Amino acid sequence: MRQLLRCTLALAGQRAPMALSGQGRRGIACLSALPEHYQMLQKTCREFANTELLPYAGQRDRDRCFPPELPRRLGELGLLSVTVKEQYGGAGLGYLAYAIAMEEIARGDAALAILMAVNNLYLGAVQLHGTEAQKEEFLVPYTQGEKIAFYALSEPGNGSDAGGASTTAVAAADGSGYLLNGTKAWISNSKVASGGLIFATIDKSLKNKGITAFLTRKDVPGLSVGKRESKMGMRASSTCQLVLEDVHVPRHQVLGSPGGGFKVAMQSLDCGRIGIAGQATGIAQAALELAVDYAQKRQAFGQPLGKLQMVQQKLADMALRVEASRLLSWRAGWLKDNGLPMTKEASMAKLYASEAATFCAHQCIQILGGMGYVTDMPAELYYRNARVTEIYEGTSEIQRIVIASAIIREYANQ
Ligand SMILES: Cc1cc2nc3c(=O)[nH]c(=O)nc-3n(C[C@H](O)[C@H](O)[C@H](O)COP(=O)(O)OP(=O)(O)OC[C@H]3O[C@@H](n4cnc5c(N)ncnc54)[C@H](O)[C@@H]3O)c2cc1C
Repeated sequence: MRQLLRCTLALAGQRAPMALSGQGRRGIACLSALPEHYQMLQKTCREFANTELLPYAGQRDRDRCFPPELPRRLGELGLLSVTVKEQYGGAGLGYLAYAIAMEEIARGDAALAILMAVNNLYLGAVQLHGTEAQKEEFLVPYTQGEKIAFYALSEPGNGSDAGGASTTAVAAADGSGYLLNGTKAWISNSKVASGGLIFATIDKSLKNKGITAFLTRKDVPGLSVGKRESKMGMRASSTCQLVLEDVHVPRHQVLGSPGGGFKVAMQSLDCGRIGIAGQATGIAQAALELAVDYAQKRQAFGQPLGKLQMVQQKLADMALRVEASRLLSWRAGWLKDNGLPMTKEASMAKLYASEAATFCAHQCIQILGGMGYVTDMPAELYYRNARVTEIYEGTSEIQRIVIASAIIREYANQ
């Protein structure tokens, strides 16, 4: 399968112009308007999701873990490093491909897509800001599932206000590096990770300008995984606190410059939001497929539910949102791949798709009636999973702030 992605890579150089108007294909937007390598990528991911994810997502949610071999499978497929250059062991496919892959994996198991999203988020930051030596140690081993990464920005006292970090980084007396102290909160992948990126402040009075990004292994003295959160959804994905007690990070493991961590965070989150938009689209798509299927099979008042116009209205509203989410996420990915500004567009895609995912999962439960409310069917899982896409990597309120600020700037410059 990894070979298939390598094959898509060869085709990727062609960069054929993208026509975004698709036709329907068995419930999903047709990618025939896109270059062939994207279609191949979608097909590979879809087959993987249909056989290895969809049938087991409910059980994994109840078990609150993935089988240990699953990250390695993602790695073999190139899905843990979709946008990392081939020279570093990545798939080198770009952000449009990333949006497509995230949608397909999330359609199968949205919790597994978190593992993929956080690893890609981390690698994006290291690829952009890392030195060659840092890439050797902290990028290459994380591309193929051998190692998984965490990305530790949030804290118990601050999430949206990322510049308000309380975790401190004090220069060690011998000049060898920094001593980190504090608690990071909500850290995805932290149970399974081998290392990752930790944001801390070298001077809290500097606010954003004090934030510094540190690369570290997880098995270093003073770094421990704390409380595991008991969550509404995405339960197979571990979300824990990371506790730092005098964690020594050598100077050469600062990613970017001291005080440059806020920029590292904002640039990587811009790209990460393309992935969350894809993830949310995948949940919405899964909910739509389930609702359509049920509406065709379930009889009420002597006819299939799908013949009832109020049910049809729900299906139409869901399909509309799925398509719009997909197109917004593709657009953001395409802009990124072509070196064009995309902060606003990534926020739009993330905002719209996450709200669409919640809407579609909600409507799916309604169409299934009682069967939507029980765990025999995955509608309730989609509903529980969808909700957090409106929260992480910037809440919907933060996305609206980003979008509005960009629009006001654009109008002022006209
Ligand atoms: C399952 C899960 C996984 C996560 N994984 C990670 C991870 O791997 N790494 C990581 O660093 N973080 C992670 N997070 C944290 C996540 O990014 C934060 O929860 C999110 O950024 C919101 O921060 P908060 O929870 O502190 O909410 P707060 O920032 O306290 O916000 C609370 C409410 O106030 C609103 N609000 C805040 N500021 C403003 C404003 N200026 N204007 C208007 N409204 C505002 C928010 O939109 C929200 O509705 C994860 C969270 C969850 C739930």
